[in-house]
Amino acid sequence: MTQSKKSQYNADVLIVGGGPVGMGLAIELGQRGVKCLVVERYVKPQPIPKGQNLTQRTLEHMHVWGTEKQLRAARTIPPEYGIGGLTAYGTLLSPHAHDWLQRDLVKPYYYTANERLPQYATEEVLRERVAQLPSVEVLYGFDAETIEQDEEGVTLTVTERTADKSSALQVVRAAYAVGCDGSGSRVRQQAGITQTLTSHDRKMVLLVFRSTQLHELLKRYPGKSFYNVLHPDLKGYWKFFGRVDLGNTWFFHAPVPAGTTADNFDFRAYLHESVGAEFEVDFEYIGFWDLRFALADNYRAGRIFVAGDAAHSHPPYGGYGINSGLEDVRNIGWKLAAVLEGWADAKLLDSYDAERRLVFRSTIDDFIAKSIKSDGDFLEAYSPDRDLQAFELALKERASGAVSEVHAFEPNYEGSPIILHSVVESTDVALSVAQTSQRHPSAKGNHRFEANAGHHLAPATLSSGQNVFEKLGSGFTLLALGAHADSVDAFRVAAKEMNVPLTIVEDSFEGEVKRYQAHFVLIRPDHFVAWTSADAQLSTHLPKQVLTLARGAFKN
Ligand SMILES: Cc1cc2nc3c(=O)[nH]c(=O)nc-3n(C[C@H](O)[C@H](O)[C@H](O)COP(=O)(O)OP(=O)(O)OC[C@H]3O[C@@H](n4cnc5c(N)ncnc54)[C@H](O)[C@@H]3O)c2cc1C
Repeated sequence: MTQSKKSQYNADVLIVGGGPVGMGLAIELGQRGVKCLVVERYVKPQPIPKGQNLTQRTLEHMHVWGTEKQLRAARTIPPEYGIGGLTAYGTLLSPHAHDWLQRDLVKPYYYTANERLPQYATEEVLRERVAQLPSVEVLYGFDAETIEQDEEGVTLTVTERTADKSSALQVVRAAYAVGCDGSGSRVRQQAGITQTLTSHDRKMVLLVFRSTQLHELLKRYPGKSFYNVLHPDLKGYWKFFGRVDLGNTWFFHAPVPAGTTADNFDFRAYLHESVGAEFEVDFEYIGFWDLRFALADNYRAGRIFVAGDAAHSHPPYGGYGINSGLEDVRNIGWKLAAVLEGWADAKLLDSYDAERRLVFRSTIDDFIAKSIKSDGDFLEAYSPDRDLQAFELALKERASGAVSEVHAFEPNYEGSPIILHSVVESTDVALSVAQTSQRHPSAKGNHRFEANAGHHLAPATLSSGQNVFEKLGSGFTLLALGAHADSVDAFRVAAKEMNVPLTIVEDSFEGEVKRYQAHFVLIRPDHFVAWTSADAQLSTHLPKQVLTLARGAFKN
């Protein structure tokens, strides 16, 4: 980009929406020194306790963003209490219940443990971190109104919410914009990005209430923070209780009849019926949402991208929302920075849609919609009143199914144009892409310690006693384990020639790192594996070829 074009810009990247996803992107870019401008409607995060269930992977982002410690300190439930889930049949207090979504089962495959806290508390932590980054400016209390793009940049108009809108219109310009403005995204609509909608035609209520008696009643399930009630009448749709803090505040969401309003429905009786007991209830919030799936048909239109709920929205079944949104920005963040810094091919930006949209398609099909269907099938096929023995057997199987669901949720970018599964030495880099065409990115995988191209890197201890994650650079990292010195040097020289930031970590092929089953592991800035080699010595041209593809120079 020429200097004169740059000087027209207020920022390199405009981020519309400063919810968790927009703020995550601001940190990812701000830490890389990219100049960003965030436009956020609300001066304070909205006090709705959604988006609580944060995965280990999300905590890895928080670690990299310098917010892990603050986030854990902001939790509202003491760590010793536990953050597991439970599924019960009929009512919450029924004798038929099993553990559910025990995310801690996959902890060994991640560098950090999972966490649970209300989304507004997470947003506070992210906002504080953003305030420390000199290259990020935030316009709190501003509405993004219109967005347009031309060949050289993106133009956004904003108005201050408290001021007279017609007089406060301001124009800002940047090289790129990312719409992180939630499910009703104006950015998505104005960029002409269509969505595929799947309606389940259910109106859902979201209640936030206080009840110490409910805490007393649920002492029978120690260490649990969220509870899912399956009722035959609801055909697989859940009645969902979540703790906001320990002992007092709760949220609940469940289907309600169409036409329900805050005034024409007995929510207290609905809560009592769902738990199977009466208890005192003090409502703080009554709101509604429509149960539906929406997936953007492209995550990119020219210089405009969408991320988080702006790109994909869905029922909050299983905690895939905020976690997927944060992974979106970990993905697009390094790619935008690489293109702006000039060391990546512009096509690298296309790989954002290729990777993240397919993963979410699979998150809908293989996890969220599938679980609604399989719960519905179970309720139709089994009942403790019809055949107690068969019901109990099926319930036991479901408990082990819940374990495999946690293991199977392993988003990966197999088949992505910038992932190299096996590289045949050639002067034509496109050869490598052809070999990956049978695979495609998916949310469904398998947690493994082995380093696999397209998959998240598992942690391992180096011979120094440090974890590999403590040595990863902000650009690419090459792990060279018992590798031939000439080949390591060839990577060093190629990276320098191509201006690709590369941290090289050398160690012996012994101890825990042996479980990577590779002498070379190339790790992307978002800590996914780009390429591996089981050979300790590489042919001369290979390092250049590998780096060329990893930085986005692929043929479509
Ligand atoms: C009841 C419930 C429970 C949930 N539980 C979980 C869970 O356990 N785990 C999980 O992963 N997910 C959960 N989710 C989903 C999760 O809350 C969302 O996925 C998450 O909020 C998405 O973040 P986001 O930043 O993309 O969008 P949002 O949180 O919607 O943020 C968008 C931001 O953009 C701003 N904005 C919008 N338009 C404009 C504009 N024109 N100008 C300026 N600013 C604008 C808004 O003010 C807002 O701050 C739950 C959702 C609900 C409803």
